[in-house]
Amino acid sequence: MNLKLDDFLHESQGWTALLPQRPALKVFSGKRRVSWAVIGAGFTGLAAARRLAQLNPSDDIIMCDARALAQNASGRNSGFGVAISDFSGKFCRDQTGSYQRINRINQAGLSQLRQLVQSHQINCQWRQTGTYRAAADCRAIAGLEDHLRYLDALNVAYERLGTDDLSQRLGSSHYHCGFKIAHGALMQPAALVFGLADSLPPNIALFENSPVLQITRGSTVELQTPGGEITADKVVIATNYEAPRLGVTRARVLGSTLSGSVTQVLSDEDFAKLGTEPTWGLLSLHSGGATVRLTQDRRIAIRNTAEFHGGMLLSQHQLSRRRRLHRKAFDARFPQLAHVPFATSWSCVEGLSRNGTNFFGRQGETLYYAGGYNGSGISRGTAFGTALAEWAMGGHSQLIADCLASPAATWLPPRPILDVGAWFTVRKRFAGVGKDR
Ligand SMILES: Cc1cc2nc3c(=O)[nH]c(=O)nc-3n(C[C@H](O)[C@H](O)[C@H](O)COP(=O)(O)OP(=O)(O)OC[C@H]3O[C@@H](n4cnc5c(N)ncnc54)[C@H](O)[C@@H]3O)c2cc1C
Repeated sequence: MNLKLDDFLHESQGWTALLPQRPALKVFSGKRRVSWAVIGAGFTGLAAARRLAQLNPSDDIIMCDARALAQNASGRNSGFGVAISDFSGKFCRDQTGSYQRINRINQAGLSQLRQLVQSHQINCQWRQTGTYRAAADCRAIAGLEDHLRYLDALNVAYERLGTDDLSQRLGSSHYHCGFKIAHGALMQPAALVFGLADSLPPNIALFENSPVLQITRGSTVELQTPGGEITADKVVIATNYEAPRLGVTRARVLGSTLSGSVTQVLSDEDFAKLGTEPTWGLLSLHSGGATVRLTQDRRIAIRNTAEFHGGMLLSQHQLSRRRRLHRKAFDARFPQLAHVPFATSWSCVEGLSRNGTNFFGRQGETLYYAGGYNGSGISRGTAFGTALAEWAMGGHSQLIADCLASPAATWLPPRPILDVGAWFTVRKRFAGVGKDR
């Protein structure tokens, strides 16, 4: 498959628009021979490159991303560092071992990010605030007990909350019931991506707007970019749902397009109309429901649409229509703030698999790949990227064993059959969402 530069369109709304502008990184040009090349600079690629550089301090490592830094799912997500994942489907007690394994992976990634944020003083509004889960409509309300059974089985402490508790803490009486767990972190995702990239070890050269268009494998691996050629001994592919476009892995993850909006900074007067918690993050108990946050810099972020759009971002026209849905959901939750405008709205594509799992593997001794985390990729992508690097270097650890034990995302059919299946999958995810949207 021959990719072109134009196959990697992006735009710069969302969390990056709220940060000071940064000088662009270099675009790759010329010819380079390196030990390792990492394709994709999201959480997976950044973690893999960092670990490879630590393990091979005298080797040169090249990292190329097709887009500008942070204009990917890693820089454009909702900013929940997940420690305790949702179970997929109904809670099954006999799956407890598998839930624990997934949560060990999450927590390994989260703890690594926390240490990096602290040691490099990354200014990304990182807060270990825990996580709220709540329900407004009957289907999600009915799911509450199942969630609590899951937490009990994992020995995760929670605080059960009713409408009044949630209203007093969050300033929204929209929710009927929910709970809070102490696990999980919140952050400004684009600021975290920038901080991680800025603190990479010096033997990594990171290039943006430098897509790998073709991979040719022999005794070494040749990577073709628009500006030149990289020859690497080994390559990490951390390109999420776009991995199959490089023609070396089969499609296991489809791109689901999500959209959200963030308000401008609330005035003191508006901030006082909210609850007692100065910063918080709430995930719906319905898997198709809204994610809502009060950021540490006093903005409210809401993400509440997901659809299959061929793995593409929404057009400006489509986004402005989705913004009306964000607004409706915002006003329903915070009628006292109905006058507060959104500062930015954006869409972004996440990797979803049919069976709710991801991929982690290799081809021969030269190509290694991981990705597709179904909405929990901040912590999990970091852990999988680290494990991939260590595994590629012949390492053994609990984390590698946990990643290898993850059932592989099942293969997807080619388009157009995929489009029909994906449309139904996303539709199913929204069934009965009601007031939780
Ligand atoms: C709107 C939204 C909200 C989300 N909310 C959360 C959340 O709150 N918490 C959470 O944990 N997860 C969330 N997720 C999921 C999470 O963002 C992803 O799982 C995670 O960022 C994936 O990281 P990654 O590094 O594997 O992939 P990505 O961040 O997608 O990075 C892959 C990179 O590969 C690059 N690439 C692709 N092809 C090529 C090529 N040929 N050459 C060079 N580069 C290439 C892309 O440009 C991209 O930068 C959300 C996702 C979305 C879209």
